Amino acid sequence: MMMNMNLTDNDFWEKFGNLRQEDLFFKVHPELIDIVSEVEIKKTECPSCKKDERVSWVWAFDETEYEEPVRDLCRDCELEALSLETGYTLNEKRRAVIDKEWYFINENEASGFKNFEVHDEKSEFAKKTTTEYIKRLLAGEQLNLMMLGKTGTGKSHLSKAIAKTAKHKGKKVAYITAMHLFNKIKGTFNNIHERNRFNEQFKAFDLIVIDDVGMETKKVAEVSWSTSEWTELLNLREGKSNIWTSNFDEQSLSKVIGDRTLSRMYENTIFIENFTGEDFRRRKRINVV
Ligand SMILES: [Zn+2]
Repeated sequence: MMMNMNLTDNDFWEKFGNLRQEDLFFKVHPELIDIVSEVEIKKTECPSCKKDERVSWVWAFDETEYEEPVRDLCRDCELEALSLETGYTLNEKRRAVIDKEWYFINENEASGFKNFEVHDEKSEFAKKTTTEYIKRLLAGEQLNLMMLGKTGTGKSHLSKAIAKTAKHKGKKVAYITAMHLFNKIKGTFNNIHERNRFNEQFKAFDLIVIDDVGMETKKVAEVSWSTSEWTELLNLREGKSNIWTSNFDEQSLSKVIGDRTLSRMYENTIFIENFTGEDFRRRKRINVV
């Protein structure tokens, strides 16, 4: 005779939420209208907090007493569950908004570690090094990676593979070209509020991949502005991990972003520049493994 019904169904509660609990009973159990004369509301044990705070119906029929919970949990526990759920949704939404502004990798793009083609020693070294990098990053280490080399050598492929893996593992990741990044900064000119928002976001990422460093400055007149921006950007990233890729070699890069920026990028950084075929051990820096 007991009828089971999904009482947490939202539509249901929207429709009948205003009724008295007793009246609600007959909406749920229309078959009992002529049979049960009295329904009482009783507080029973909430399965979550174990307090006697869950609302239940109690009624008698055929000299037997029946009891049925109106809700799954007590009011406090339901509200708590609801706020957790809302918080989760909000976080998800915020994450989606930030991704839209900062994460420029097409999910369908086939740029993973698995499909990176190893065809010589250099590409093998690059793959081994980036695989090592992502392992250390996921283990919680703060570590930078710089990849220098000509276009079409796989820098973007590998940096995307790292970004995707880190994101998949729950890290907050940005993937943006240097040009796009600097255009974003230009967009905040004369708007301190926007710039603060930019800074807050920029600081918060566990990992930022900046692709094509050196391409952000097209005019010589902008170089001094962009080098001072780089200083600011690196300050904001203090203690966080970064990946920089560039088609420029070290010398040309230092002209565009400045010596100071470049040497700061060398701190706590792994290098891959075998893409160019140059001897990467030649330079003074903290090196790989
Ligand atoms: Zn409870």
